[in-house]
Amino acid sequence: MKYSKLCEVYKKLSSTTKRLEKIEILCSFFNELEEKNIEIIYLLKGSFLPDYDQRDLGISEQILIKALSKAFSLEPQKIVKKFKEKGDLGDVGEYFIKEKKQNSLFSNDLTTEKIFENFKKMLSFEGKGSIDKKILSLSELLLLAKEEEIKYLIRTVLSNLRIGLSVQTILEAFSKYFFNGENKDLIEEKYNLSNDLAEIFLSSKKGIRELEKINIKPGIPINVMLAIKVSSIKEGFEYCGRPAAFEEKYDGFRMLINKKQNGEIFLFTRKLENVTNQFPDIVKVVKKNVKAESFILDSEVVGFDHKKQKYLPFEAISQRIKRKYEIKEMTEDLPVEINIFDCLYINGESLIKKSFVERRRVLEKIIKEEKNKIRLAIQIITEDEKEAEEFFKKSLEKGNEGVMIKNINVEYKQGRRVGYMCKFKSESNELDLVIVKAEYGEGKRSGFLTSFTLACRQDDEFLEVGKVSSGLKEKEEGLSYEKITDLLKPLIIKEKGKEVELKPRIVVSVSYQNIQESPSYSSGLALRFPRIISLRPDRSVYDIASLDDIKRELKLFKNK
Ligand code: ATP
Repeated sequence: MKYSKLCEVYKKLSSTTKRLEKIEILCSFFNELEEKNIEIIYLLKGSFLPDYDQRDLGISEQILIKALSKAFSLEPQKIVKKFKEKGDLGDVGEYFIKEKKQNSLFSNDLTTEKIFENFKKMLSFEGKGSIDKKILSLSELLLLAKEEEIKYLIRTVLSNLRIGLSVQTILEAFSKYFFNGENKDLIEEKYNLSNDLAEIFLSSKKGIRELEKINIKPGIPINVMLAIKVSSIKEGFEYCGRPAAFEEKYDGFRMLINKKQNGEIFLFTRKLENVTNQFPDIVKVVKKNVKAESFILDSEVVGFDHKKQKYLPFEAISQRIKRKYEIKEMTEDLPVEINIFDCLYINGESLIKKSFVERRRVLEKIIKEEKNKIRLAIQIITEDEKEAEEFFKKSLEKGNEGVMIKNINVEYKQGRRVGYMCKFKSESNELDLVIVKAEYGEGKRSGFLTSFTLACRQDDEFLEVGKVSSGLKEKEEGLSYEKITDLLKPLIIKEKGKEVELKPRIVVSVSYQNIQESPSYSSGLALRFPRIISLRPDRSVYDIASLDDIKRELKLFKNK
């Protein structure tokens, strides 16, 4: 397919904010998709792989500037200057193409096939010289692109397409296109299992039977079930019924542990990132202590200091998630304990539709516990509020965050927050938010970003809820200004004076004292006295608090 055709669709999609119009645009585009070119569907999301495959091209803005400079024989400084002016490398590419019009007039058309060919090549380059090879492949594409095409191509390469299209809207368009608006829930349910738009498209095309056949598979990460926050044990019972299961709520990060029939183990975070290589210690323990041929387990991984016999805060082990080097040293310095709380697949059979008690029973059979290495989540089943209250207190005394309350009679609802599982924490006011803007500091902090604007989500939009500058440290220990500046700098979209606008990528857990209505922020709400507690590299922008979540908190404050 000519890339220009897809760019037309991008253009139309970005020209409207109305969901129904977007769905119409998508439906007419779907006529162009066939089995042989189905990969194009990934480009709609600004990616070139299914969502379950989180590898990326590894192209930073700096590398892209080099590729542009090679393609257009321009001095990199000239490109950097334009970038400062326009704030978007896609627009910069478009500007230079216009300037060099005669070049592109005679070039061949850029096709989606060529894009996939080069992207796949770029993915395969590794080790020494790989950056130069990537620059070459990329500049080949840049040279083929025409005016608008280059803008979208560059944004795709930088994983920042910005056409205002969510997966949710694509799934709704599937429902409209294939089933006349029916089967929305089924499509979403299946998407949360496969994380592959192409698979959902092709199965839906064959009909509902084929769609129904899509199932959980070891080796492919699913979107995990999420919890509703409750403010009392009683409310937990209201959601989950009586009796309900109460489990300790561990303060680590979520991990899906998969074993394929051939014995291969895969570890995924809840952002679907494959972290198998980062946790060889977990692979070893799982191989030894989980007795089944194939499985998918849901768990919380917590840092545990063997010398001090103490659990470690999340910040300590969070660095292991992104770590690419010195992994062995890390496993020794920051050992972890796996707390398994669910089993979704066992020996070739999906357990998703089985009740929680049945799934737990399977866990009890297959896990051989080993002190401070692997265990089942500590659980009681009760209908008594006092007993549950006692369990909650003990859980806090042990240093946990609180308790999880679970409905024992229901299936697993992947990707959803439906109240089959609730969380009840101690009186801590905490939210996960994304950083959308930042400001450079002054004096000894000059050169560092030291103040951050936080945002929550409302569908595909990010709405500001406050500014934070406390919680970070001057020096290395904990989360330093230097570290956060290094993380944020590559995400700068625009710069104006001291303020920078950022791609919303960096998620942080933030504590606060109160929430109040405020016209100063786009959400209409402001957090009072926010502090950054930790970076959350295990969470994506889809995991952050929604505007509704914060409104709910506000209501709770008002009722206190
Ligand atoms: P939080 O920031 O409160 O951990 P969250 O946004 O990560 O919440 P939720 O689904 O809202 O995710 O809350 C439940 C989280 O608690 C799970 O995602 C999981 O990481 C963690 N957890 C710890 N212990 C358990 C347990 N026993 N059962 C289920 N989840 C647990």
